[in-house]
Amino acid sequence: MEKSKVHDLLKKLTSNDLKFLLKKRGTKGYSGLKKRELIEKVFEAYQQDFEELHKDASEIYEAKLIERVKDGLDHFLNKRVEILYADDELVKADVNGHTVVIYNLTKDEFEYKCDDSCQDYVYNVKNKRVPFCKHFIATVAELAYNGNIQLESIPILGESQREIIEHSLEKRRKLEGISEKGREIEVALSTAEKYYLEIARQNEHIAKKFFKDSAEKVFEDMTLKLFDLLEFETIGNRSPHGWDGITIGIHATPPFIVVIECKTAQSGVYDYLVKHQDYLLTLKMYAVDLVKNKLFGAFRNYVKYVAVVAPAFPEGIESLKYSFQNLTGLQLSFIPADVLLYLVSRYRENPIVTHSWLEDLFREGGLWTKEKIDKLFDKSEQLIALISEKVTEKVLEWLRQYVMVRSDAAFINFDMPMIEELSREIFQALSPELAVMGKKEVTGVETVRLRHDYYAIWERVLKNTGKQLIGFLKELSDTQERTTEMKAEIIRQLRL
Ligand SMILES: [Zn+2]
Repeated sequence: MEKSKVHDLLKKLTSNDLKFLLKKRGTKGYSGLKKRELIEKVFEAYQQDFEELHKDASEIYEAKLIERVKDGLDHFLNKRVEILYADDELVKADVNGHTVVIYNLTKDEFEYKCDDSCQDYVYNVKNKRVPFCKHFIATVAELAYNGNIQLESIPILGESQREIIEHSLEKRRKLEGISEKGREIEVALSTAEKYYLEIARQNEHIAKKFFKDSAEKVFEDMTLKLFDLLEFETIGNRSPHGWDGITIGIHATPPFIVVIECKTAQSGVYDYLVKHQDYLLTLKMYAVDLVKNKLFGAFRNYVKYVAVVAPAFPEGIESLKYSFQNLTGLQLSFIPADVLLYLVSRYRENPIVTHSWLEDLFREGGLWTKEKIDKLFDKSEQLIALISEKVTEKVLEWLRQYVMVRSDAAFINFDMPMIEELSREIFQALSPELAVMGKKEVTGVETVRLRHDYYAIWERVLKNTGKQLIGFLKELSDTQERTTEMKAEIIRQLRL
């Protein structure tokens, strides 16, 4: 390894990065040094071991690029990219209001321009500290997604960067419903079971090795993924400022929104909030100023809950929910990572908890425990039994009303409108947990929307109702002796 090559790489790092390298080597006394002096100091600290130095510096540099790739992919996934023009030589795109122009993307004469309003482009790309800004990555991802280019044909992309982009292309295909791989629930759950608690304890090694990101970011992503597995709609926030995630309980009536803040803690217990209670004001700002007050109309009213997710919480955390409620009118939950994982594991095994029932936990707020989760499942069982009873009752009641007058030894005879009446009764009994009834605004046609995510609850309700219905038919078969129309006609024709 030549010194000049290492020197070129070090020049691309910031002063803070260089200080990090010095700290790593146990070197002190570098405050106030200029960048040029810091670089010399780094060479000294590594005692001219260029291989080792190049390895450490590359790691930092690579992380910078990955950061930009991930930020760019957020724009891509949120569909903030519009390709205005694309051919072999020239690509022009709008990314979230920034104009990106790329020349010769797949050739050696590659060149690109981002807006002058893109600080990263002006300060870092133009000065050749990094090869691209996030807007470039967003454009490239959009091009690849549309089939305009193959990622392999872009020389400027490294292999790990390409991998991450591929991953997002797949994710977007899934969101658009055009992926064949489905939701990969099992993979997501087993990944979480393997790493989530370690990540919560800030295990940077695992974060970097398996997820190519910081533990904090991985923890945020995995937490939202877990809510995803509970059928919530989730929105992430890659900006280091403000809330970490929003989850939407779309299956509750009305829906509810939870603002999520994720905290890793090396000690295994997140005690900052108990020690610095004024942090509640920050949480208030995240939830009220940055989410609730930015939404319009009914959406604003849906923002009712805030949850902090962390490896564990210390004693005395419970009382903070009251302070927070006084401050904001919102309920604050503290969710230990293992409790969230426990909830999701139980739910995937037996998906019988609806968002309405789960909302009770957010409504109660405070510290979530495994006991509370167990109770939630017990309660869900009871509520499903109630729904089953309600539906069965409706069906049987309806049948009984016709059966005396409209059945004979072989059939119960219905006119189609009677069946329509029955289905309306059933859907009403299933509403709002499993079905939503409505009307089309323009035509006034009645509509029914079934919640397919709750298939396990459907199964129980239908099985139970089916069983009761069959019992009823059997009973009827055993007792109904009224002459059929056919027999009556034959008797009449034979003049018996
Ligand atoms: Zn840019």
